[in-house]
Amino acid sequence: MSSNASSAAVAAAVASCRLEKQQRRRLAAFDFDHTIVSQNTDTVVRDLLPTEVTSARAHELVENDCWTEYMAEVFRLLHEQQVPEARIRDTIRGIPEVPGFVRLIKHLAKRMNFDLIIISDSNSVFIDEWLRAHNLSDCFLAIFTNPAEFDETGRLQVRAHHQQTDCKLSASNLCKGRVLEHFVIEQDLRRSIRYDHVFYVGDGNNDICPVLRQRACDFACARQGFAMEKHLLRNRSKLKLRAHLLIWKSGFDLMDQMLALPQLQTAPANQVELETPEGQAELARRASAIAGQAKSPT
Ligand SMILES: [Mg+2]
Ligand SMILES: [Zn+2]
Repeated sequence: MSSNASSAAVAAAVASCRLEKQQRRRLAAFDFDHTIVSQNTDTVVRDLLPTEVTSARAHELVENDCWTEYMAEVFRLLHEQQVPEARIRDTIRGIPEVPGFVRLIKHLAKRMNFDLIIISDSNSVFIDEWLRAHNLSDCFLAIFTNPAEFDETGRLQVRAHHQQTDCKLSASNLCKGRVLEHFVIEQDLRRSIRYDHVFYVGDGNNDICPVLRQRACDFACARQGFAMEKHLLRNRSKLKLRAHLLIWKSGFDLMDQMLALPQLQTAPANQVELETPEGQAELARRASAIAGQAKSPT
């Protein structure tokens, strides 16, 4: 970006900040497989293949940990076996929730005024299908996952969410920590929304990266008996987790724990009035943050 273009972008962004008063809110970010739904959406759909149907390519990809490419190969085989789109969608809709999660999501979104997002290594077709079937689509502000669609021949095509090599804790197609950080920064810079507390709810090893980036006022919510909890407890001193750790067994249990938190007993802190000195300092802070963003290559 040329310096003229970037200073124009900064000016525009600062101007838009002036129009919106800052809001303080709470965010809950959810993994999907084994967190909201009780199974792995990918393996449930893979199991629609007759057991004898596989390919050398599928073996190679799974052995080299190329999960997204492996699933693309599984979707090709499903198409070859003429497994119809409707059967795949029915299968996804039939996956049970982790007990209490439908209620938890509705309660957080509708009663407690949380912003909710999903960050998942499944794909957009599976997640949209399941959420729609459970009347939860309008509870989520955003869903970050591998984009997918059925093409005109009925084959499910899936692409990587992004390509990254910076984070060694995460797969090349999805660093959940990066997604969460970007979301929180974007909400602040573009919509003047600041999160007093961020809850990250997950179960797996790919949920470690986002919680290690959380602040001391945030909550890392790990499913009891699953890989995320085991990893966090085993490496507790080495990992330097700043967030509070909540271990949950079900959506009911997590809701009880959240409702008992002293941090959630009051409404979020009042918004900063832009006309006050505090508001002006806040505006200057945001302007320099935007200028920093405009300069750094993304
Ligand atoms: Mg999971
Ligand atoms: Zn990562």
